[in-house]
Amino acid sequence: MAYEAEVLSPLQARAAELNARLRDAHPSQILRAAIEEYGRDGRLALVSSFGAESAVLLHLASEIDPSIPVLFLDTGQHFGQTLDYRKQLAAKLGLTDVRDLRPAYSDLAVQDPSADLYKRDTDACCNIRKVLPLDRALQDFDAWITGRKRFQSASRLSLPVVEIGEGKLKFNPLANWSKTEVDAYAKEHALPAHPLVQFGYPSIGCWPCTHPVEEGEDSRSGRWQGQDKTECGIHVTRAEPPSNDGVGGDI
Ligand code: SF4
Repeated sequence: MAYEAEVLSPLQARAAELNARLRDAHPSQILRAAIEEYGRDGRLALVSSFGAESAVLLHLASEIDPSIPVLFLDTGQHFGQTLDYRKQLAAKLGLTDVRDLRPAYSDLAVQDPSADLYKRDTDACCNIRKVLPLDRALQDFDAWITGRKRFQSASRLSLPVVEIGEGKLKFNPLANWSKTEVDAYAKEHALPAHPLVQFGYPSIGCWPCTHPVEEGEDSRSGRWQGQDKTECGIHVTRAEPPSNDGVGGDI
């Protein structure tokens, strides 16, 4: 019995070709390839949480192009330490284009006027505070970069170096690196740690949904503790790319 070969779209074919070429490359080579191919006309963005391990990817990128647009989801629910760290780290690395993405006032007014939606519906809260602001921002870009790594959780074990996200190429330069390699890079370059790492937070998001973890647990097990939820939604594959009016993004 003959099986038909899967027909890839041009974007899928491009992602597969880049992934095959870069899957064993050093993170700096992956970043350089992304920046050379998509960064020259400002069509490439790096998305950073300025969390526990963010300094490594940001440092690698700053060594190649400190003017790369860096998108930070300022959800309005971050620890004060994260907001301070975002400012200090950007200044130290000489990043010149860090953009704070905030929720739409209309979404907050209608869905979360008391800033406690996280108590009732974390998916809805992440949608208006993370997913929709990123959807709107990514409309200005053709490709994006994330700091995700395979070792962070069981759900990220098969993370490719290049994939498709939000209908665009998505580079994960640190996918292959182990925790030991990430820590060694941070130490070699004397990168400042997020101030909450010393208190047992290996993964840091919004304060209501982030807890310290025990030694040996998944680094992301302190996120949304007690819920099935493991991702905020910005890295969840959606059936349709976001609509141009910025109100799409069902997850
Ligand atoms: Fe809301 Fe928590 Fe998601 Fe932050 S992580 S947007 S507080 S549900």
